[in-house]
Amino acid sequence: MDFNFGTCRACGYRMLWIRTKNGKNMPCNPEAVRFTPGGGPETFVTGDGKVERGRRAKDGSTVGYISHFATCPQADRFRKRDQEDDYDQKRHTGLLEEGES
Ligand SMILES: [Zn+2]
Repeated sequence: MDFNFGTCRACGYRMLWIRTKNGKNMPCNPEAVRFTPGGGPETFVTGDGKVERGRRAKDGSTVGYISHFATCPQADRFRKRDQEDDYDQKRHTGLLEEGES
């Protein structure tokens, strides 16, 4: 599988991008953790892109990665920044459309 590392724009933490089964790229913490799937307080993404709810356990049956959003100390800022990016993109699209007509 391909490991695609990135850096969180909000906190500077190293992240691992994992493509989930539904085609979304999910930023995860690069440390793999063992967990027991089948419901639990946390969401894990396995290396092959399966998203599972589960519970962290040292002797868990599955290895996965925790979503960086769940642990980012700057998660609020990250979300805000994402909205700004979205806004910028819309504005750009608007400009492009104006230029073409
Ligand atoms: Zn972060």
